[in-house]
Amino acid sequence: MSKLFKRTKILATIGPSTNSREMIEDVIMAGVNGCRLNCSHGSNEERDQQIKWIREAAEKKGRSVAILQDLQGPKIRLGMLKDNRLDLVKGDEVILEYGDFEHDGGKRVPVQYNLAEKCKVGEPLSMFDGKVKAEIVEIVSDTAIRIKILNDGFVMSKKGLNLPDTDFGGDILTEKDLSDIEYGANCDYDYVSLSFVQSASDILKLKQLLLSLGSTAKVIAKIETKKAISSDEHLEEIVKAADGIMVARGDMAVEAGAEVVPIVQRKLIALCRANAKLCIVATQMLSSMVDSPEPTRAEVSDVATAVVQGADVVMLSDETANGKYPLETVKEMKKVILYTQNHSRIAPISKLPVGQTSEVYDAISSAAARLAEKIEADAIVCQTASGATAMMMAAQRPNLPIVTVTSNARVANQLALTYANTAFVRSYSENFGYDLVAELKKSEYLQTKEGKKDLLTVIVSGDKNKVGTDTIRVRSV
Ligand code: PGA
Ligand code: MN
Repeated sequence: MSKLFKRTKILATIGPSTNSREMIEDVIMAGVNGCRLNCSHGSNEERDQQIKWIREAAEKKGRSVAILQDLQGPKIRLGMLKDNRLDLVKGDEVILEYGDFEHDGGKRVPVQYNLAEKCKVGEPLSMFDGKVKAEIVEIVSDTAIRIKILNDGFVMSKKGLNLPDTDFGGDILTEKDLSDIEYGANCDYDYVSLSFVQSASDILKLKQLLLSLGSTAKVIAKIETKKAISSDEHLEEIVKAADGIMVARGDMAVEAGAEVVPIVQRKLIALCRANAKLCIVATQMLSSMVDSPEPTRAEVSDVATAVVQGADVVMLSDETANGKYPLETVKEMKKVILYTQNHSRIAPISKLPVGQTSEVYDAISSAAARLAEKIEADAIVCQTASGATAMMMAAQRPNLPIVTVTSNARVANQLALTYANTAFVRSYSENFGYDLVAELKKSEYLQTKEGKKDLLTVIVSGDKNKVGTDTIRVRSV
């Protein structure tokens, strides 16, 4: 039975290819557990509509689905170019000027960010996902810089810029981010992710801001700058400050070199598992499926590797946002996840010390996981208010499904991305875990093993009036 549940979750980016009620419903039915709405593209009205469609599809499926608001951060983009394109040759000098002025086809190009405030002469700059490399040669004015092009190539309107060595000075939230945060705080978001995080303080600032606006969304740090990965200690501080991280392999490769990405990915997944934080592996997982109905062998291997390493979530970007085969991609990803989990154990991690306060819970959840596997339970059942019990259980990466019950719908949506968790919203009672299993048995969502009459479960819970998990019960249902 447990073979049917995928324990690693799928997060799909919504874009033109999936921007309809039907497509959103189809991808959710096919196995998408969460949707990423990207603030770099589209309008608030479009996102409002998408949120509505996602919630309706989730309701129809009878499952919680997470919605993530992805903030652009200091992702710097070119403005509109004449005929959408500018050809460049090695040695060209280009002025990048902050503003929304009309490009005349020449070498004075609009950018959406005031680089003159942050950049220094000599720093490298690249454009269009690293396709055109350049160096900053002059700060021309308060709003303009001059760069020298280092290779032949071309750029297009709105393409991104990377400045791997530029210090954004502890203030990475742009005006656009602030307005997206303010608007988003009143929307139905479960997670907010921040691009180009440099330090833990960026995350703490965002958390404060969300709290002050009354948002209950959890915060994901996108790991993609050289600064963020500059040392293991620095990286761990960011992981601890956030509720989860995204291994943002696209920009990380441009900023720090593609060769560093696999090692950072492995390190980050281990850090998240040790600290009971959510871990998303993102970008180019099945990217050839943007144009082809079949993935490459290397891509399949990449998804399987993330599963074996114990990622909570694998993400689709262009594949579902702009691709020709969004639905096929989701189905393919689900197949790879299921086959891999059913034929391989999750790689163990050497346990890093967990924080003082979580030690007891860590001991309880690891005991519960071992107990459940030993007695060959059908499911682990978590009764949780904040979601913490379910997160700690998931951090053990047990080899069986976790069925979670909570009275908080936001918590259930958030847990839709958590490893092995399926969360249901029911009103609180002492035994709502047991009651839920009885209900799920009746509806045949949970099925007994062949020849068995009862479901065997391990129920993990806490005292409603105290903080934390303190009880393990074994129950036949
Ligand atoms: P993006 O982030 O798609 O928003 O750029 C992910 C990445 O950089 O990999
Ligand atoms: Mn990125």
